[in-house]
Amino acid sequence: MRVEWNVMLKLPGLIDPHVHLREPGATQKEDWDSGTSAALAGGVTMVLAMPNTNPPIFDAETLDIALNAAKVKARCDYAQYVGAGPDNSDIVPSLAFKTAGLKMYLDSTFGELRLDDMTLWQPHFEKYPKEYPIVVHAESRSMAAAILFAAIYDRPVHIAHISLKEEVLLIKAAKERGIKVTCEVCPHHLFLTAGESPSPIALSGGSAATEVEAGRGVRDEGESAGRSEVRPRLATQKDVDALWENLDVIDCFATDHAPHTLEEKDSDNPPPGFPGLETLLPLLLTAVNNERLTIDDIIQKSVINPRKIFNLPEQPETWIEVDETAEYEIKASEQFTRCGWTPFEGWRVKGKVKKVVLRGAEAFKDGEVLAEKGFGRNVR
Ligand SMILES: [Zn+2]
Repeated sequence: MRVEWNVMLKLPGLIDPHVHLREPGATQKEDWDSGTSAALAGGVTMVLAMPNTNPPIFDAETLDIALNAAKVKARCDYAQYVGAGPDNSDIVPSLAFKTAGLKMYLDSTFGELRLDDMTLWQPHFEKYPKEYPIVVHAESRSMAAAILFAAIYDRPVHIAHISLKEEVLLIKAAKERGIKVTCEVCPHHLFLTAGESPSPIALSGGSAATEVEAGRGVRDEGESAGRSEVRPRLATQKDVDALWENLDVIDCFATDHAPHTLEEKDSDNPPPGFPGLETLLPLLLTAVNNERLTIDDIIQKSVINPRKIFNLPEQPETWIEVDETAEYEIKASEQFTRCGWTPFEGWRVKGKVKKVVLRGAEAFKDGEVLAEKGFGRNVR
């Protein structure tokens, strides 16, 4: 008889520097309770929440709305970003010590967080304290402009969710010249390409990414990609390959967990965004199994680098236990996110989170979230 020794792999709790928890304003999609439950189920013990809620988080009053909800409901540790708007560059620096960082939407967005031209970027880069990060949503040439601002004002800037070959190569060149730029990549930009509906990941051999049929730009402006609608858009195989080839340039993995309900995603005008908290680690561990990544890469990009870039405290007595040998299919029906779907439905992965210990307490075990609402702490 063969004896199976199921030795668990022990890792530090992961940090996700980019999540949308939808509260305040859209709790039918997610809230601080369901979103942080999804985090724990995914082995994530700390999340940094984005400010484009309703209302958006852009001053002391709106920051309190988010932090009050988080205090009552969060099950894992967290911090909340504040958003840069056209009129708040004088007030956000005074909130820096209470927030994850300043988020700037440099491509199109709406409402209070709209920055129509570069004269509105300038005061934020000038005034926001250098010891706290500025995170930018800036694609392609906007990203180049953001890096120029980092150089001019000699301050760190973190580029959210890079997806293109041109982006990773420019960041590499900027880093080589000493510009203080860091960046993150999302699993969906590493494992999915634009084109036909994605096919399941191969557990062994070959590229984990799907075949590309239609690249970025092939789709007409305004034409919907259905459930695959996401910003930045899914890119081409050439872009995906460039991200994998330049993993050493990429500082962090981030999910950009952005849940929308299935009804919204299947409508005529699907909003952009994917859930991602519960699929991050299984996908990365599968890539480790396929020898495209190492466990050290995961620790570096999901723990050590985010802690350093975002100036985050260590979480004492915090770890996760993973069964590296567990093979299974990803199923939205088993997830804690409220949105009820995943772009990775049916993908076969290898590596399952079995247990999460947060600050000495069992927070997740064998499919069950054990941390109470309100157990999560604001790390700022
Ligand atoms: Zn986002």
